[in-house]
Amino acid sequence: MPARYDVVVVGAGIMGVASAYHLQNENPGKKILVVDRYGGAGQGNTGRSNAMFRNTFSSSDNQVLADSSIDFYLHVQKELKVDVGLQEIGYLWLMNETQLSKSKPFLRRMEGNGIATTLYGKEDLKRLVPGMAAGFADDETKVMGLPPVDGGVFGPKCGRLDPDRLVRFYAGEFARAGGEFAFGSEVKRLMVGPSEPLGIEGEPLVWQETRVEGVSLAGSSQTDVLADMVVLAGGAWLNELLEPIGVDGHVKAKKRQLFSVRAEGSKLERLLHTPGFNQLGLLPLVILPKAGVHFKPVSEEECFWVACEDEMNRPYIDLPEHDLDRYRAERLYYERGIYPVLTSYFPAFRGSKLKAMWAGLYAYNTLDNLPFAFRTGNLIVVGGDSGSGIMKGDALGRAVGALYSEEDEAVLYGGRAYRTSKLGFERRDVEREEWVI
Ligand SMILES: Cc1cc2nc3c(=O)[nH]c(=O)nc-3n(C[C@H](O)[C@H](O)[C@H](O)COP(=O)(O)OP(=O)(O)OC[C@H]3O[C@@H](n4cnc5c(N)ncnc54)[C@H](O)[C@@H]3O)c2cc1C
Repeated sequence: MPARYDVVVVGAGIMGVASAYHLQNENPGKKILVVDRYGGAGQGNTGRSNAMFRNTFSSSDNQVLADSSIDFYLHVQKELKVDVGLQEIGYLWLMNETQLSKSKPFLRRMEGNGIATTLYGKEDLKRLVPGMAAGFADDETKVMGLPPVDGGVFGPKCGRLDPDRLVRFYAGEFARAGGEFAFGSEVKRLMVGPSEPLGIEGEPLVWQETRVEGVSLAGSSQTDVLADMVVLAGGAWLNELLEPIGVDGHVKAKKRQLFSVRAEGSKLERLLHTPGFNQLGLLPLVILPKAGVHFKPVSEEECFWVACEDEMNRPYIDLPEHDLDRYRAERLYYERGIYPVLTSYFPAFRGSKLKAMWAGLYAYNTLDNLPFAFRTGNLIVVGGDSGSGIMKGDALGRAVGALYSEEDEAVLYGGRAYRTSKLGFERRDVEREEWVI
């Protein structure tokens, strides 16, 4: 006899566990199972993430999804006293005049929506960040076209958290409330059948209503699991299960890389502990004016994590590997691409040593780079985070909860109502993100 659940959630990344947590909380009597091919929660792209968060977006949808999720994470850490490694270190965007003037209308909009930012002039930044070079005269920087730093934007309600701890919080609470996990279990396919089976050969036939009946598993369980509702939170692998049943997930994967640079025992140690921006006396995440090169302090490891935005010439991956270790970080990409930009603005990085490097996948929503959550019959799909799923994870989990209960609006943490149809494809109504530096 196949097992039967009220809800089966496929995927135990941030999207899956946040959804499962809210579903179980809001529906205490329901039997809910989370399935993942890996051996534990958060071992996909969630565990490989930079796990930065910010509420500074131009899109009002991004603003509310991120801002309310950040509030919830702050609540978990400060009031529930569960350490999710959250540090409000802030984000600091360094910009030239053109970038600053392009940003101003967006900053005014943020202010109108209660999202605080601070504008810094060049002299403020030179005083606050002594090791920073604001202008260049040499040939190398001219070839690279590095803009000078004429000012900066600081977002105080931005920072970093520990994605493993956050996932452990959601997964632990879900299990405490009676939720179940099946790890090491691969969902091979979504089972589709007639809503009202008649026992006729070839069902479901075209004239019959269809529904997702459950999931067919391989791996340790090797069985079918029947469910009244299936929530698909499969991240970069969504299409594998959606396309065979004729549903378009609008998701494409791209490789992303992170490089950890040792700060201990070098000039970088002082840079890491730059006071003046936050209560922790740490440098914020800094975004350079070129190629989206950015770095964040990881104080407990005395290192910086460095990354870069490389959209063009980075191919989409149609069928991502299941083993993420097959995606390698590229040393040359760091040494020839990121390093020269980084060391031009921050000479303290010269001669610094790489401690570790790794790669993961962004799951892009190719329509507008904003996440989606939609329901079709008894299937709910959540994903398309486009590289910012941790910071919006709680709000998306709540959206899944509302879709399950057929509520028009999800109540986000702090009480703000958010219309779930905005996140679907039929009546999609999200503001595109324009503040892309
Ligand atoms: C290098 C890097 C840096 C990033 N930086 C940030 C950042 O600073 N801030 C931020 O907010 N976001 C960041 N992200 C994005 C963030 O990691 C993702 O948005 C988020 O992890 C997506 O969560 P998810 O649950 O959808 O996907 P995942 O965490 O990938 O989870 C999907 C899960 O589904 C499971 N699964 C899929 N298909 C099946 C199947 N058929 N059977 C069984 N299990 C299945 C997988 O095993 C996996 O565990 C970054 C990502 C990367 C790679």
